[in-house]
Amino acid sequence: MSGGWTLRAPCRGQDGFTVNEDDWTNGGDLKRLLGPQLATCGPCPYRAVCIATVKPAQAKFDGIAGGRLWCNGEVIAVLDDVFEGELAEPKLRASCGTEAGAKDHKRHGERVCPSCRQGAREMAARRKTDKAKEPGQLQLDFGTT
Ligand code: SF4
Ligand SMILES: [Zn+2]
Repeated sequence: MSGGWTLRAPCRGQDGFTVNEDDWTNGGDLKRLLGPQLATCGPCPYRAVCIATVKPAQAKFDGIAGGRLWCNGEVIAVLDDVFEGELAEPKLRASCGTEAGAKDHKRHGERVCPSCRQGAREMAARRKTDKAKEPGQLQLDFGTT
């Protein structure tokens, strides 16, 4: 990484944000090896610029950037207190407008686009309605009327 902000970032001079290619084979290895360092990004004010600089999705990055742990350019672990706005603009995909599309955006470390957000909301509402119609619930309703 380059830029004056890197000199002020909490990770400055620390190891453990990327890992030698020979030392890991899968996401589980990355979580085990780098996971403990993820908390360093918590107080970092440069998470958005870090992601914009590293471009993890395009670079198929493996390591920590912007409060997220990336494996082959996909987010596999994330700090609790990060903001979606720190992520890259969403790409439009064939899956857009659906709950699966929202998952695709998240997997690719992007913001969720408005139509996918709406699709995910509608799916959640439908699940809630379906759950309310489940037989167990109906019996309970009959019993109370
Ligand atoms: S977000 Fe994390 S990896 Fe990026 S500069 Fe801040 S502390 Fe370092
Ligand atoms: Zn979308």
